[in-house]
Amino acid sequence: MRALVVWACALAVGSAALAQEPSKAVVVWQQADLAKLQDDDLARYAGDAAYLEGITVQEVRFSENGFDWHLIRFANSEKPIGPLWAVPHDDENAAFEAAMAAVKTYGGTVIAVNSGPYSERYQKGRGTCGGRAAIVTRCDPNRNFSESTPLFSKAHIDMLEAGQPIIALHTNSPGFGPGRGNITILDPASAAKGINRPRTDGYFGANQPDLLQDYDSYAIMPYRSTTLRPNDVQCRTAMVQRGVNVWHEKVKASDGSFSNYVELSSHGLRYVNMESRREPNLAVAAERHKLMIDAYMSGCNSIYIQVQSLGD
Ligand SMILES: [Zn+2]
Repeated sequence: MRALVVWACALAVGSAALAQEPSKAVVVWQQADLAKLQDDDLARYAGDAAYLEGITVQEVRFSENGFDWHLIRFANSEKPIGPLWAVPHDDENAAFEAAMAAVKTYGGTVIAVNSGPYSERYQKGRGTCGGRAAIVTRCDPNRNFSESTPLFSKAHIDMLEAGQPIIALHTNSPGFGPGRGNITILDPASAAKGINRPRTDGYFGANQPDLLQDYDSYAIMPYRSTTLRPNDVQCRTAMVQRGVNVWHEKVKASDGSFSNYVELSSHGLRYVNMESRREPNLAVAAERHKLMIDAYMSGCNSIYIQVQSLGD
């Protein structure tokens, strides 16, 4: 009889959990087998025995909504407490370079989407991407963050320590021109008339070093209330003083990006995205990332940690 009761309770708890809390789904990370790991980013360092010194490498593969995902994470074993460095686009190789340099300097964990053995931007498959209803054959990883993709979305933040920032790293092609989108700090309408001024909620960096004198390279901080948070304003001021262009992105409905997901569904997490213009030389774009990261870590980290320790 007792066994039957326990069994019945387990069933009830199990079905209630499934019905009400699908977001509790988690993935199980495994120690990566580096000899078998096919990744173009690591392949660039195949001859460098010291590249992963002090770094533990884990990976996870799972299928969700018709897409097979492979995520790799790199943790600083001596300094595990630190930012979460996110690289969602496998074709943005400079972002990977910058993330690995940053985790070695500042600690924490890198999480990178490996969309295939080569540098591919989209995950191929057949299913729904980011909770949108349409059946598609490719999914942009940075449009797949959603309550409908709990495995993918939670896997990105399950190593995040309280109080630590999520720092996403991207590269982009120059902002204006046919088919190039509008990845730029500039106001598009003014730029079309030849006037370069920052877009709404955008700020040009002051006294910029040469590398940061670029309208397509800037930090993006999401917000969703009617006014900016005071600590975000302080952080922006600190970064602008260090030469970084900054845009406060107002988020209303999620577009499936990591920033929108964090801002809309996970209160209290802080997120910044460093966009660096793509360059023929990976090291140049990654160096620009580094300048923005250094500005954030020296100018902003203490602002948030101080506020948090005061109980905000
Ligand atoms: Zn990207």
